[in-house]
Formats: sequence, structure tokens, C-alpha cells
Amino acid sequence: MVVWTAATVVVVPVTSGALGMFALITGLAVAQTEISRRIERQRRSLSKGPHISTTSVWLVPASLLLPPQLVAALGLVLYVYLAFRSWSGTRPGQPHRVAANMTTAILSGLAANLVGPVGTGHTVATVGAAALVFFAVNTALTGLGLYCADPAKATLASCLGTMDDNLLELALLSVGGLLTMMLADEPYLSVLVILPLYILQRSVLIKRLEELATTDQKTQLLNAVTWQDGAQREISRAQREQGSFGAMMIDLDHFKRINDTYGHLAGDDVLKAVAAVVKQETRAHDLVGRFGGEEFVALLPATSKEDAIVTAERIRQRVSELIISTTTNEGAAVDIERQTASIGVAAYPLDGSSIEEVMSSADAAVYAAKHGGRNRVVGSPALMAAA
Ligand code: GH3
Ligand code: MG
Ligand code: MG
Repeated sequence: MVVWTAATVVVVPVTSGALGMFALITGLAVAQTEISRRIERQRRSLSKGPHISTTSVWLVPASLLLPPQLVAALGLVLYVYLAFRSWSGTRPGQPHRVAANMTTAILSGLAANLVGPVGTGHTVATVGAAALVFFAVNTALTGLGLYCADPAKATLASCLGTMDDNLLELALLSVGGLLTMMLADEPYLSVLVILPLYILQRSVLIKRLEELATTDQKTQLLNAVTWQDGAQREISRAQREQGSFGAMMIDLDHFKRINDTYGHLAGDDVLKAVAAVVKQETRAHDLVGRFGGEEFVALLPATSKEDAIVTAERIRQRVSELIISTTTNEGAAVDIERQTASIGVAAYPLDGSSIEEVMSSADAAVYAAKHGGRNRVVGSPALMAAA
């Protein structure tokens, strides 16, 4: 990148027009950074995945309207400015991350720059192609970087981002495309981009706050309050439609021993692995939550008690087969196996006419499962052993 930029300094002349455009884009970016500074700081400290910054909005127009060395210069200015003004102190391990992100963004901008300058005739196609090149290079380099940082824990979503992350990035690129047209034809109109961008950033922050308020951060399942809300809606619907549903309560067996033997962090990894199993073995519209410590709940709409017991049995089986690779408090690698769970199953309206009644029946069934020797599924109230 440095060689490329240095070479272009020699080969590609910088006109005063290009310098004026560089100043305008930098000015807009700085103004926007200042206006959304508070939102950006909050968004960054609350985000869990790779942080998507708004720099592509400025780098796409730059790649089409400026020579390569000014694209690189803009990337440098933007990231250094953002790092000092908006991000400082929001996350640990800053400098090398900022440097990696900056390199990725500049390389993406330089790749888009190869598409060619916006001229008369094929403007729409050129802008679209440049935005797509930027997106492809940025996604590939970011994904590669995240994969290399921790190959063992890397998943497709952790490297390439979720659907929402990618939609946000595409929305930012669209704004970048529109901005390119404005800068080329009516540069002064380009200030119109600042408010939509501010609203875009704010809506992402609000969505993240909603996510934090409704999910359990350790397992990514619904938290108890949100699960109760969903369950309440489900019981109202079942009452209206004379329907039914199954519910289960899952309690890990002798979980305290895991903490005592391997430490809390290893215990947390077990909780995450069990949560993932419960999520995988239920349907997308089932309500799966973490009730507290090592207790999980699932409500299966329009499901009979017998069918809920079959699902519970599948969960029990898979939990008992889990091998969880983790580390002890002392940092030694360890595989935790033979973790088991006791599951109580109840149903509406058979076991109660309110959520509280149905869940207390499921709880009683868990109790019976523990007494029956653990690692089993028990249906309430007939105490039908299924394992
Ligand atoms: P039983 O088979 O009778 O259910 O035994 P148990 O040890 O699973 O039950 P108990 O209720 O005695 O212990 C639950 C343990 O769960 C105690 C607590 O330290 C642990 N725990 C609760 N929340 C968390 C958490 O978020 N992380 C970790 N690592 N442990 C937790
Ligand atoms: Mg418990
Ligand atoms: Mg337990």
C-alpha cells in the first residue's frame, strides 16, 4: 500500500481541483464525525462484533473523484481523527486495531479507485462498480483479519458479519454513491448527507440497545424479562385461539462442581455450549431463554406435551454428548464431558392456565427428575419418565 501510494505520488499529478475536492470531503467527514461523536462513542463501546464505521461513505466518493495518493491520505486522516476524537478509551487494544482497520479501508478505497474516475456517460455504472469493489475488498480483508486473529473460534458470521452488519455497510455505500454524484455535480448540496448519516448511526445504536436490553449477554438467549413477555403473548394467543403449547425447564446437573473444579470461566463456556444446543434443537419461533444461573426455559408454540418431551429428550441426549474445550482458571486446556441436564416438561392448558402455573409444573417436574437420578426428562404432572 505504501509503495503503491508512493508510486502514484510520482506518476499521478495532483491538480488544485483534486486538492479542493479532498478538502471538501475531509471537511464533510470531520463535520459529520463531530456531530455524531456521542453516538459513535456509545455505539463503539456497546458493539460486540467488528465495528462498522462510516468511513466508507467518504472513501467511495474519494476513490472515484481523487487520485490514489489522496484516497490514501483521506483514509489516514479519517482514521487518525476518529481514533482520537470518537473512539479513544472505548475499547481495549486500540492502536493496532485502528491501524488494521485503516489499512483495510485504504486498500478497499485504492481497489475501488482502479474502477476509474467518474466521467460523463457511465456514471451510474462506475459508481455502482466502485461501491461493489469497495464492499468486496473490505469484506474479504476484514474477514481474513478476523479469521487470522482467532482461527479456532472463527465462524462465518464472526468473520463476515451478520446480515444486519452487511446491510448497514451497503446502506453506507449507497450514501457514498449518492454523495459521489452530488460532489461531482453540485458540491454544495453534499452537506445534505450529514443528517441521513446521523439518523442511520442513531438507529443502529438504538437497535443495539434494544438487543442488550432483551438478550442474556452470556448465552445470547432471551433474558428472563423478555422471555416472560413473549410467553405472556403466547398464552394470550393460545387462549384466544383455544390452542396449546409445550414448555420446558432445563437445569444443569451438579453444575456447581464445574465451577468448583475448573473455575467460573469454564462454567460460562459450558453454559454457552448448552444454550447453543437448546437453540439448535428448537424451532426459530420457539421462545428460548435463560432464567438465571444454569436454568434455561423454552416455550414451544402449538406443541403437545408429548412432542415437547421428544424435543426435551433430544436436548438431554445432545447435552450429555457435548465435549466442551475450555481453559481452567490456571490457564490449562481442558475438555469437559459428561455434563448432563434434568428437564421438566409441562403444557398449556393441561398443567395450568397461566404462565406461572405452567412453569411451576415444569419446575416440579425438574425437581422430580433430580430426585429420579438426574440426566432425565420428566413430564408433569403424570411424571412420565422418558429417559
Ligand atoms: P443440581 O444438579 O441439584 O441442579 O446441582 P447444581 O450444582 O447444578 O445446582 P446449584 O443450584 O447448587 O448450583 C448452581 C450453580 O450455578 C451455582 C452457581 O455458582 C452457578 N452459576 C450460576 N450462574 C452462573 C454463571 O453465570 N456462570 C457460572 N460459571 N456459574 C454460574
Ligand atoms: Mg438450578
Ligand atoms: Mg443445577
